[in-house]
Amino acid sequence: MTSDRVPDPANAARELLSFYAEAGVDAVLGEEARDWLAADEPIVDAAQEAAAVVRPAAPSVPSPTRIASAPSRPQAARPSAGSAPPPPDAAVMSAREAARAATSLEELRDILGRFDGCGLKASASRLVFADGDPQSRLMFIGEAPGAEEDRQGLPFVGRSGHMLEQMLAAIGLNRREVYIANIVPWRPPGNRTPTPVETQICLPFIQRQIELADPDILVTVGQPSTGALLGVQGIMKNRGRWFPYQTGTREIRAMPMLHPAYLLRSPIGKRLAWRDLLAIRKALG
Ligand code: URA
Repeated sequence: MTSDRVPDPANAARELLSFYAEAGVDAVLGEEARDWLAADEPIVDAAQEAAAVVRPAAPSVPSPTRIASAPSRPQAARPSAGSAPPPPDAAVMSAREAARAATSLEELRDILGRFDGCGLKASASRLVFADGDPQSRLMFIGEAPGAEEDRQGLPFVGRSGHMLEQMLAAIGLNRREVYIANIVPWRPPGNRTPTPVETQICLPFIQRQIELADPDILVTVGQPSTGALLGVQGIMKNRGRWFPYQTGTREIRAMPMLHPAYLLRSPIGKRLAWRDLLAIRKALG
């Protein structure tokens, strides 16, 4: 027997929204629905596409005076929901060229702000570039901004950030004395892990950021940044070990450390983190 009950549209809408929220869909890209699978975009030559990925500088936008800790401006112009993202190869190529062109952290931040090659930019509220002291000898690199980081435009300011601050305090440091960034500078929707393609597209920028900041010691926080920057898998077996890292101008030392989000879930790991922090402290002299 079929039911002749008319579904309540408000209820149906609520259920659909809660389905989206559980699936990690937490941002709206445009007013109208669009079929992203429809082949209505002209196929563009990959090299042309690469050249178009970084939008030309807008002369009216002044560069921020203190790049490291100034919260990023909300992005004025996001990639429009109507234009298809460039093919990954072209985006990686363009990212490499764009990152190489930056001669200072300020320039790098501006170039990154105009870079449209990573789809995450469309759903994030703003760019999360860095915080702390770019002159510091110690640089921490995490995975990607979360909700609070996206709101404030600063890395590690949510629950993980508070844990990181406690960890730093344990070796007599605070966040203003170290330099902090992420391998991916835009929040992935629903805090999902950035995809390998998104990570590869953003990698040239964080590599250039490390080269320009020129720290003596790099700490990769968690597996994603450890894998992307040091090429090693298995945070548990590699944490606390020193690895060589080529910045582009010299070799420095790098150490993977457990992510503060992991320590919040598994406080037993704090013993290991404490050991690693002491080794970092010792390496600083
Ligand atoms: N986790 C990260 O890896 N980075 C942040 O900025 C915040 C949480």
